[in-house]
Amino acid sequence: KVRVRFAPSPTGMFHVGGARSALFNWAIAQQTGGTFVLRIEDTDANRNRPEWTEGIISALAWIGVNSDSPHFEGPLMQSAQEAQHRAAVAGLLEAGHAYHCTCTREEVIARTGDSNRGYDGHCRDLARPEGLVRFRTPDEGATAVDDQVRGLVEFPNAAMEDFAVARSDGSPLFILANVVDDIEMGITHVLRGDEHLSNTPKQQLLWDALGKTPPIWAHVPVIVNEKRQKLSKRRDKVALEDYKAEGYLADAMVNYLMLLGWAPSGDREILPWSDMVAEFAIADINSSPAFFDVKKLRAINGEYIRALPLEKFIAEGEAFLDPSWDRKVWAQLAELAQTRAAVLSEIHNLVDFAFLDEPVFDEQSWTKAMKEPAAELLAATEESYREAPWTAEELKNRLEAVGTEFGLKLGKAQAPVRVAVTGRTVGLPLFESLEVLGRERTLARIAAARA
Ligand code: GLU
Repeated sequence: KVRVRFAPSPTGMFHVGGARSALFNWAIAQQTGGTFVLRIEDTDANRNRPEWTEGIISALAWIGVNSDSPHFEGPLMQSAQEAQHRAAVAGLLEAGHAYHCTCTREEVIARTGDSNRGYDGHCRDLARPEGLVRFRTPDEGATAVDDQVRGLVEFPNAAMEDFAVARSDGSPLFILANVVDDIEMGITHVLRGDEHLSNTPKQQLLWDALGKTPPIWAHVPVIVNEKRQKLSKRRDKVALEDYKAEGYLADAMVNYLMLLGWAPSGDREILPWSDMVAEFAIADINSSPAFFDVKKLRAINGEYIRALPLEKFIAEGEAFLDPSWDRKVWAQLAELAQTRAAVLSEIHNLVDFAFLDEPVFDEQSWTKAMKEPAAELLAATEESYREAPWTAEELKNRLEAVGTEFGLKLGKAQAPVRVAVTGRTVGLPLFESLEVLGRERTLARIAAARA
């Protein structure tokens, strides 16, 4: 039975990289009829906060990693497992795989003369009764990690210091707690971020020393920005919450995150979750850094927006409107907005013209659109529109005719009208917008603009 896990530390907003790892694991669990365990690694009391744990759980639910599913187990708190961690440390000491050490860092440096070299093994055979607990690593040979993404990675044992597994007060350290929990939870596959690859040989030695067969390892590539820098919360937008707040749809986000390091067959990029589950394979994960391409994410989100049933789009979009705006007018404009918005937060500026007494003029658009012969063209349009049957089709034909008088194609003739009425050079399909806005308001805005 396949048992995978996602083991975040609740030390901040939920990162898109974490979401990607969670989804890969979730896909494996669903595909194999296995189990996905959510384990909250909350042992660093100084950095953990309960609200981050809440945030992780709700963010996971948002992307469909739902605790109601029969494939979901948890959340289990690492802090609740301390007795098992301590027992494992005691077992390692007992079996001679670990020993107590009382050396200070200064002492080690004084002996080795090198602050970059790790611990020198001084206390190995001194049978100290107390001190922090170090794991005895082999002196020769290499520890080979058979990683499903990276291939076989060999770590020379001579370069691996006797690392600490518990503090002097007996409290277990991350590296040990992580392994003991994976063992206790019967984890068969550890799929996680690349930054943990360097821990893996140590963890594999711990699995062996604890008498268990190590899991299948898979380290997924780092996610980088357009400058090829690792995504970081200081430089980049990394919190899943922020994408949600900006109006990315959960399904689009899931789809895009799955493409970070993995590609479905046949050049497809947009596909339903069930297809991704069916096709996902660890063996197909790419080992090179995955570029977080916001443009592509936007494009995919736009596709998902356009695929929404109109009713759903109206409901989803509402949250991004000013509360005072008339919902009936929104319902009239929604179909137009659905063709243009890449993220839901853009709806606000796309439709504001219909709710405000005066459009919000953007300076640049104004200067660009109101060049000669804009004033005359607006006057002629106003004239032509005064008696026009008020349909998009008719308004378009009339503006086309006016444009011809001025030697302008429709595209050019539209610009001053669009800015006069909506305030901006880009926006919803114009004539349909005018139809919704109505004759009176359209003419008043055209008149105001040419004045
Ligand atoms: N708690 C670790 C982290 O948040 C994850 C460790 C693991 O996946 O093994 O980075």
